[in-house]
Amino acid sequence: MLDLAIIGAGPAGLTAAIYAKRKGLSLAIFDSGSSGGKLNEIVVLENYPGFVSIKGLELAEKLREQLTNLNVEIKEFCKVKEILKEENGFKIVADCGKVSAKSVIIATGTAHRKLNAKGSEQFEGKGISYCATCDGPLHAGKDVAVIGGGNSGAMNALYLSKICNRVYLIEYMPKLKCEEAYLRKLKDANVKIITNAEVFEFFGKEVLEGLRYRDRVSQKQYELKVSGAFVYIGLKPNSELAKKLGCSLDDKGYIEVDQHMSTNMPGVFAAGDVTGIFQQLIVACAQGAIAAESAYRFLTD
Ligand SMILES: Cc1cc2nc3c(=O)[nH]c(=O)nc-3n(C[C@H](O)[C@H](O)[C@H](O)COP(=O)(O)OP(=O)(O)OC[C@H]3O[C@@H](n4cnc5c(N)ncnc54)[C@H](O)[C@@H]3O)c2cc1C
Repeated sequence: MLDLAIIGAGPAGLTAAIYAKRKGLSLAIFDSGSSGGKLNEIVVLENYPGFVSIKGLELAEKLREQLTNLNVEIKEFCKVKEILKEENGFKIVADCGKVSAKSVIIATGTAHRKLNAKGSEQFEGKGISYCATCDGPLHAGKDVAVIGGGNSGAMNALYLSKICNRVYLIEYMPKLKCEEAYLRKLKDANVKIITNAEVFEFFGKEVLEGLRYRDRVSQKQYELKVSGAFVYIGLKPNSELAKKLGCSLDDKGYIEVDQHMSTNMPGVFAAGDVTGIFQQLIVACAQGAIAAESAYRFLTD
């Protein structure tokens, strides 16, 4: 039986793995996709200490290197389907097999919220995307829309403005919610900002050809011809596994933890965005480190 199973190889899970391995714990770390989590979606980070600016993909690669150096193999494209409580620990049931472990860190992050608009499901992967760094280059030289004017929306609109012909940044509220630093950059970029707008329909034949929105003040309807729509309207926790296991969740579905990243279940810890605490990279990494330290104490005290 392993000492520790880590579910999710985003920044929180990867950091937990670094700390746990350096403490001498035997471990397995799983990810349903490729490791790095949301780092793979971040164009450029400008608020991570030690780097004036670093690409998300580059930081993900550095984290992977660090794990390779510690001889930790990441089980990628291996979704954990269930965590079962056993007499002396837990059984992790994943796509690529089963392992038993005495403790678990759940670092499953969040998923993008989907827009409740006609055609939203139909055009997902056919023009509608949640990752501009992944799919933006497919729309080089074309017109695209970014939906959601928070930090993620603003950052990705700026990224797309460098490769696309025209970028519409559509916000439901009267003002963009992003930080001042993004507002300053947006002023000089090739981005048309549309506020007070409710996107209610995506249209096209085989692939996305455009969207329709309603001005929330005048109630007038407008149509934009776009080949891509990048949706950044918030996140929801990937906490179903934790819930099924018996972990307490808060009213928004985030896993409840104390300052040691302990859940209500002995031997089960949680870290990163899935705890809902200030969803930033530095916090996810810090929580991963604390969770690994707490798992070590749980196993050795
Ligand atoms: C567009 C965007 C821009 C951002 N910009 C910044 C920024 O500039 N600065 C900053 O500090 N933060 C930024 N963030 C936030 C930052 O990316 C997150 O806080 C951080 O990635 C959280 O790490 P995490 O490990 O908790 O979760 P995630 O990064 O979401 O990783 C969770 C991992 O768990 C995996 N997983 C989920 N369910 C399962 C399962 N059942 N089995 C196996 N694996 C599973 C997922 O595949 C994923 O790889 C940004 C986020 C986004 C989306």
